[in-house]
Amino acid sequence: MSVKETKLYDVLGVQPNANKNQIRKAYKKLAIKYHPDRNPNSGEKFKEIRHAYEVLSDEDKKKLYDKHGEEGLKDGFQEGGQDMFSSFFGGGRRQTTQNEKRKPKGRDLVHTLNVSLDDLYRGKKTKIAVSRKVTCNHCNGYGTGDGKKPPMCSDCNGQGVRIVVQRLGMGMIQQYQTRCPTCGGTGKSLQNIEKCSECNGQKTFPERKVLEVFIDKGTLNGDKITFAGEGEQSSETSPGDVVLTIKEKPHELFKRKGADLIMNYTLSLYEALCGYQILIHHLDKRDVLINAPSNDVVKPGDVRGISDLGMPVKGRPFQYGRLFILFEVEFPEPGFLNPDVQNLLKSALPNEPKKQNEKGTGDEESFTAEVMDINTHKTTIKKMQEVYQSDSDNEKGGRGGGVSCEQM
Ligand SMILES: [Zn+2]
Ligand SMILES: [Zn+2]
Repeated sequence: MSVKETKLYDVLGVQPNANKNQIRKAYKKLAIKYHPDRNPNSGEKFKEIRHAYEVLSDEDKKKLYDKHGEEGLKDGFQEGGQDMFSSFFGGGRRQTTQNEKRKPKGRDLVHTLNVSLDDLYRGKKTKIAVSRKVTCNHCNGYGTGDGKKPPMCSDCNGQGVRIVVQRLGMGMIQQYQTRCPTCGGTGKSLQNIEKCSECNGQKTFPERKVLEVFIDKGTLNGDKITFAGEGEQSSETSPGDVVLTIKEKPHELFKRKGADLIMNYTLSLYEALCGYQILIHHLDKRDVLINAPSNDVVKPGDVRGISDLGMPVKGRPFQYGRLFILFEVEFPEPGFLNPDVQNLLKSALPNEPKKQNEKGTGDEESFTAEVMDINTHKTTIKKMQEVYQSDSDNEKGGRGGGVSCEQM
């Protein structure tokens, strides 16, 4: 017997002419030896063994592998090398592909994996345990004592349903489908058939499996990690997948937008005017000292950006996004400045009187007005601030030009 590749046979340590029984025995021996529960460092080896057995124990897959090697097992592989054009132009006979013969896919097991921003930054290796049903190897998932597919139910031709025709009189008939009572709707004749002693005819076993998860640097919230074929198994379906959805946990300092990070930072008025240094404890545990550009003056609500201090870009682990800092400025309380300091500031700060509302013609009466004492009118002022803020939110017109204190 000639085969194209022997790799999968080599993995199980059998000859390409080994029979089904020899293959199963070899698999069992290796599976026990390399099972991750017993041998946690052999995850990859165990996967290889499992893959080899999945292929070589399935008659269809084995045929494809013997003929075409690993290439023949790929999704969408077309036997006979039929190209796109022949199907476009209706040329050539239609080949039966592996896909068409393939069983429907079993149920996926979907889990959410909560991951901290730190771990998404640094990348992480973790383990999760999934509970799933696996096909009983003893009976190939058929639940039968001899491990063969049970014969078709002859009463329903394997359909599991029967058409019942009922005469209602006066020439009228009613026709409806009903579940085949002989086979209970399974389409298989299980009468007089010995049950598999391993699974007691249940076809599958519950199994807890530990999967090793690699979270790449820069993985995004909502990204999915799929373990193909690690979901539920049954003889009627090909195994489902295990699908993990990444859920990013909120971080106390940083918010994330793609590869960029955003943080709030409050400066003192002195820092806002005279320069600042910010020390942040970054997600990779580095302490980063951020220096202000010289002569920077920060107003409340200003934003500054720093390149390469954001998240790693997924798939390009040496490329990083930006860090944006959204500034607040803390002003001193009223009464803070004594007259001497005020004079010093006056000479140091720009001191041009504001030229707002200076449209007088000279005919108007002029007068001066005092700003109310903030301490005795605290509640009123707070209320007015709220009214003003909700107004400007509605108008989206922004601040400026609004109510001035004199008009109160
Ligand atoms: Zn039946
Ligand atoms: Zn069984």
